[in-house]
Amino acid sequence: MAVSNLHPAKQSVLDFVERNRQALSTLSDSIFYFAELGMQEHRTIELMTSLLEENGFTIERGISGFQTAALATWGSGAPVIAIHTEYDANPSNSQRSGVAERAEIVPGAPGHCEGHNVNAAVMVTAAIAVKRAMEEHGLTGTIKVFGAPAEEQLLSRPYFVRDGFFDDVDVAFHNHISDQLKTDYGLIQSAAISADFKFTGESAHAAVAPWKGRDALDAVVLMDVGMAQYREHFQPGMTAHRVITDGGEQPNVIPAHAAVWWYFRHPDAAGARVLFERGCEIAKGAALMANCELQINVRAAVWPVRANEIMAKVVQSNIELVGMPTWTDAEQEFARQLQRQAGVAEKGLQPTFSRLTGPAKQIAASNDSGDVSWAVPMARVWFPSNIPNITFHHWAAGAALATPIAHKGGEAGAKVLAASILDFLIEPERAAAAKQSFKEELGGVTYEPLLPADQRPPADLNQAVMDSFRPAMEPHYLKERPIFA
Ligand SMILES: [Zn+2]
Repeated sequence: MAVSNLHPAKQSVLDFVERNRQALSTLSDSIFYFAELGMQEHRTIELMTSLLEENGFTIERGISGFQTAALATWGSGAPVIAIHTEYDANPSNSQRSGVAERAEIVPGAPGHCEGHNVNAAVMVTAAIAVKRAMEEHGLTGTIKVFGAPAEEQLLSRPYFVRDGFFDDVDVAFHNHISDQLKTDYGLIQSAAISADFKFTGESAHAAVAPWKGRDALDAVVLMDVGMAQYREHFQPGMTAHRVITDGGEQPNVIPAHAAVWWYFRHPDAAGARVLFERGCEIAKGAALMANCELQINVRAAVWPVRANEIMAKVVQSNIELVGMPTWTDAEQEFARQLQRQAGVAEKGLQPTFSRLTGPAKQIAASNDSGDVSWAVPMARVWFPSNIPNITFHHWAAGAALATPIAHKGGEAGAKVLAASILDFLIEPERAAAAKQSFKEELGGVTYEPLLPADQRPPADLNQAVMDSFRPAMEPHYLKERPIFA
């Protein structure tokens, strides 16, 4: 790809990504087969950081107390540009790639069913491309690449912000899989608080002496009833959902312990806090009724994701430069088959990139990059590696993730991301303009972490599940290793 009038450094990142499309694909597919749940992304981060290290980045592992987090830095001085993304899989959605029907790789195992594997490959490829171009063309600045674990549990980035890792950052980029090549600005996603409610009672024989027991599961059930009643009075944009993580062991033992894990979401951070506090009151009422003790543990708390308009316009210009991948008939047919299987409209793959027409429409989902987006101006690059109309966290959203559809979408994403970063290195005054407009965009709202100040990351989250499935998953790991040339 050669475009006239393009800055030579920008041309060199586009060429680098094109030349290294095989390495990008191998990295993406390797992570697809690792399929590691949040907090257990050990092989994933090891592969990512070793590639960045081989390519000259300085690596700080285990930042903010997350064993599977890392910060890779290259360069010096201003501007300081951060890139961050996630790479965790989801439970129970192991799915063979390139197969348009339900077919597990390992029955019951975790699987990528959204595409965070491609996120990681896009970020690493773009970072190395930018570093090479900076060297070749004498551009100054600092690139900070953040590996952010456990996005599905909304965990890591609020800790990075709280611990000062973004204090020196001028602008930040987040890249995420989509079925579109697009960017947006304004409020994109919602705030969320994730918390455990643990109830403690007293066990007894459920048939012989139930009057001696205090049933912790009763408290979970009563909290559920209270939340269901409360839901009727939610404002638009508020959502809450839960899973019971401990419901006792067997019916003839009255459960002395039971627990439920809730997500509370609201379009803004203050609203999420109010919703969470109301949930706490309902939990206290449930504990009182069931004569149990209650312990509340906030697992994660994130601000709504926002994006800066000036940065979005820079990204959009690069989307228009790079363009949408050209899909083959076979890729279109695979997409339609999958859409048929999932019972959604058979529209095939997106033919063109999306236009930037105005502020985003805020959605109910959340992402832990929200806190970054209130600390520094941030842009998001959405790249087209998945199938339109297929909902994330469904097996069908895993079926394209190690196919040419994911690879071509990732290549477009890495080009847009690298080219956009280059724009801020070539013209550092763009960063100053983004920072100025960012202040205005915040509209006087002061960012204060929702995360409790003394909160520690849950290191053993998902460990037992991952340990139990790894031996069966290992034979499916790729044998080859990505090499960036
Ligand atoms: Zn995601």
